[in-house]
Amino acid sequence: MTDRERSNIRDAAAEGFRWEGVDLLAYKQEGSAPFKAITRQVLFQRPELACELRYFEMAPGGHSTFERHEHAHGVMIFRGRGLCLVGEEVREVAAPDLVFIPPMIWHQFRANVGEPFGFLCMVNAERDKPQVPTPEQLAELKKNSAIAAFLAEAE
Ligand code: MN
Repeated sequence: MTDRERSNIRDAAAEGFRWEGVDLLAYKQEGSAPFKAITRQVLFQRPELACELRYFEMAPGGHSTFERHEHAHGVMIFRGRGLCLVGEEVREVAAPDLVFIPPMIWHQFRANVGEPFGFLCMVNAERDKPQVPTPEQLAELKKNSAIAAFLAEAE
């Protein structure tokens, strides 16, 4: 076995939704967008890959930013269960459900059942900055009662 193979095996060691050598980071920069009680771990971010794999985890009551962007997400629910909004669909999800988030579709994840809720998120390494809704866009979105109810719970 080469040193490189050994090092890749060590990379995989994990316990309790933490990975050896992977820092527990803030979800985003404070003040950049609304979010609550959520952490980020970057599992793969390497020059050999055109994508990144991150693990996000929300404490009970936490949520990701309500946002949209040109890049897509491939998500696998990895810990517990919770709620996600993708476009106009509110979905109850649990590990190991898959959720695809297409370009420019509003989305948010919420830990709504009193337990930690975590997901793996695959994303392009080169990507645009997320957008949050303007007050006008938010008013328009809230005309949909499912979206309004989902967002009201997250506040
Ligand atoms: Mn996103």
